[in-house]
Amino acid sequence: MLSHQETKNSAFQKHYDNYAWCSQRAWIEIDIAALSYNVKQLRQLLSPHTQLMAVVKADAYGHGAITVAQTALEAGASWLGVATVPEGMQLRESGIDAPILILGATHTLEQIQAIAEWQLQPTLSSPQQALIFSTALETIKGSSPIPVHIKLDTGMSRLGTHWGQASEFVQLVQGLPQLQIASIYSHLATADSEDTTVMKQQHARFESAIAQLKALGIAAPCLHLANSAATMSDRSLHYDMVRIGLGIYGLYPAPHLNDTVNLRSVLQVKARVTQVKTITAGSGVSYGHTFIAPNNMRIAVVGIGYADGVPRNLSNKMQVIIRGQRVAQIGNITMDQMMLDVSNIPGIQAGEVVTLLGKDGEEEISANDWAEKLNTISWEILCGFKHRLPRLALT
Ligand SMILES: *Cc1c(COP(=O)(O)O)cnc(C)c1O
Repeated sequence: MLSHQETKNSAFQKHYDNYAWCSQRAWIEIDIAALSYNVKQLRQLLSPHTQLMAVVKADAYGHGAITVAQTALEAGASWLGVATVPEGMQLRESGIDAPILILGATHTLEQIQAIAEWQLQPTLSSPQQALIFSTALETIKGSSPIPVHIKLDTGMSRLGTHWGQASEFVQLVQGLPQLQIASIYSHLATADSEDTTVMKQQHARFESAIAQLKALGIAAPCLHLANSAATMSDRSLHYDMVRIGLGIYGLYPAPHLNDTVNLRSVLQVKARVTQVKTITAGSGVSYGHTFIAPNNMRIAVVGIGYADGVPRNLSNKMQVIIRGQRVAQIGNITMDQMMLDVSNIPGIQAGEVVTLLGKDGEEEISANDWAEKLNTISWEILCGFKHRLPRLALT
């Protein structure tokens, strides 16, 4: 064993320190302060009586559902939205007691039992589903009426009953003693588009459904329609609640909405350099040799790959930030590793931190940058990071 003094002075120690302060090869950092800031900023777009539902489905868009839910509730959200029953149960198990709406479809007896037991609130999208719930709840001993949310299809053509049949549907549910209508809602298909034609048409259809109900003397306890984009673009869509996913994570649904509210990106993806080497002109890099060194180069190997959620289609197209400077990724991204051209930054060493998404110094790379290169949307990028990457919550 080397003495403390000896190790402290050794070259070995310098490298050892680089590795030791974080044992991870790659990880995700979640900026809790940014998340809280975003919820507060978005809240400021809303009138005081409009509630904010934090949409935390898909493990909070890859950010970690429990941490995000707790932070969002503290910052001013009062509802949580999930896609599935297990997602709701996970939040309840962590001690969260805010109302939780399941946005996805639920039908089975097991799902209905869990909804009753864990006090989750289902979306009802059809009369058949309402009857299934009603029958199932009759068999569950001692269950009191459960709150349900009526979903109308106003043009998304996903879940929901056609808006023209809203009153029949609502009246049927009202006649089922096991079910209590907590809200009526719909979902917009084109809220992030600059062309508002379809959004306006959906808005009008939602209004017409509400008018049908009013004519029958039925007042909905809560109406909601807006996702992030609609919340940012048009106050008349806010109603009693908005359902915000992307925005709380600090991303804008479309460039034309960038000026509507100030948001800070919450998620950063980082990894470490694991080896640095010189390769000679003509050397091929990685599987398939899709990159050939045009001259002698310094390259860095980094411990993150497509099994962590970095899309392989970004191979030879993406940049990363190291020491506040952008460098090019080269060769095919492999399952667990990738290579960088660090020829222009002298002295890069194993252990140094590479930022794949996020900010380092003046440079910033966002999920939107990746989405553009891949012809997809930032939502998919965020949800793509795998559980092999630990989520570190930074306060
Ligand atoms: C996912 C989802 C949202 C949130 O959408 P964002 O665009 O991320 O804000 C809102 N409502 C429903 C029904 C959803 O499925």
